[in-house]
Amino acid sequence: MSTKAYAASSPTAPLGPIAIERRQPLPSDVEIEIMYCGVCHSDIHLARDEWGGAVYPVVPGHEILGRVTRVGASVTRFRVGDLAAVGCMVDSCRTCPQCTSGLEQFCSTGATFTYNSADRHTGGMTYGGYSERVVCDEAFTLKVPTNLDPAAAAPLLCAGITTWSPLRKWGAGPGRKVGIVGLGGLGHMGVKFARAMGAHTVLFTTSEGKVADGLRLGAHEVVLSRDPDAMAKHARSFDLIVDTVSADHSFDAYMQLLKVDGTLALVGVPPKPQQISAFSLIMPRRNLSGSLIGGIAETQEMLDFCGANGIACDIELIRMDQVNEAWERVLKQDVKYRFVIDMASLRGG
Ligand code: NAP
Ligand code: ZN
Ligand code: ZN
Repeated sequence: MSTKAYAASSPTAPLGPIAIERRQPLPSDVEIEIMYCGVCHSDIHLARDEWGGAVYPVVPGHEILGRVTRVGASVTRFRVGDLAAVGCMVDSCRTCPQCTSGLEQFCSTGATFTYNSADRHTGGMTYGGYSERVVCDEAFTLKVPTNLDPAAAAPLLCAGITTWSPLRKWGAGPGRKVGIVGLGGLGHMGVKFARAMGAHTVLFTTSEGKVADGLRLGAHEVVLSRDPDAMAKHARSFDLIVDTVSADHSFDAYMQLLKVDGTLALVGVPPKPQQISAFSLIMPRRNLSGSLIGGIAETQEMLDFCGANGIACDIELIRMDQVNEAWERVLKQDVKYRFVIDMASLRGG
């Protein structure tokens, strides 16, 4: 079925309107009228082909939240009218060791990502949530807590799970000192989650204007990362640092802040390879790791936690035709702290 969307037609073209084809719901599919879609920095990296592999047109968007409008005959978990969400993946092989242990993002055959992935059904590419509706297998469709503001919940589908997963894996909690680097979409959720999990939470930012917000969002301390003296005060003291920075920066500066066996977990993706000194790892023994979104069950766990604790994102709601301007502001570190597109504006509502 023909579906209104916004797409990039080349690495340099601004996003503009396009019509895409969505499949009719299959027996296990849920059709969702998209109410809100968050703007992730990955949308920009990918549409501008900064990671390679973009296939145009690219319809970005993987923080999708809306209302169910149709369900296939075998769908059991969703009914027409329910709130539902789709994050960064829409399918995987479901049989490999990762898929059967809740790590679909690391599927041996490659997970089907929500956009710019080979579609397992149509033979073409997947298209993301900068569109009026999406069709997704119910196994990859998430339940949304009804007590949250749906616009502010949408970015949980990527910014939320991407910070939740490393905080859980490396044990953010009482008695642990946890750093979050960068106060953007991911970072602001990292701060909220680390605090909610009970860790001593420290935000590292390059933006002086974000210090007060860092404290308001839950950080116990905020460090200006360009101030070497402020950084030195935290040497060898962290159990875990989650790095959300999207641009080139020094990993060594953060490695110096880890205790023995502490972990620097990268989630940000600077387009170019970064260097690291061997001494950062061996003196004292430290870990450099990374994390990619999170599995479907873990995403549901995060959403349920947010519902139970009243946690959502700090957002700025925009119209679909404001997205190019919003992207430029993301690149200038000028987002507080996630743009969310009101899809009614695409439908003309
Ligand atoms: P964002 O909202 O733009 O936030 C990135 C933050 O990084 C900025 O707010 C800024 O924080 C900091 N930053 C930006 N440029 C910097 C520079 N030159 N030097 C130092 N700090 C800088 O982006 P996002 O949507 O949170 O995404 C962050 C990164 O994570 C992107 O690379 C994205 O592709 C990636 N990502 C990864 C995954 C995953 O699964 N691993 C999932 C989603 C996104 P301050 O102003 O506080 O310094
Ligand atoms: Zn994302
Ligand atoms: Zn698999």
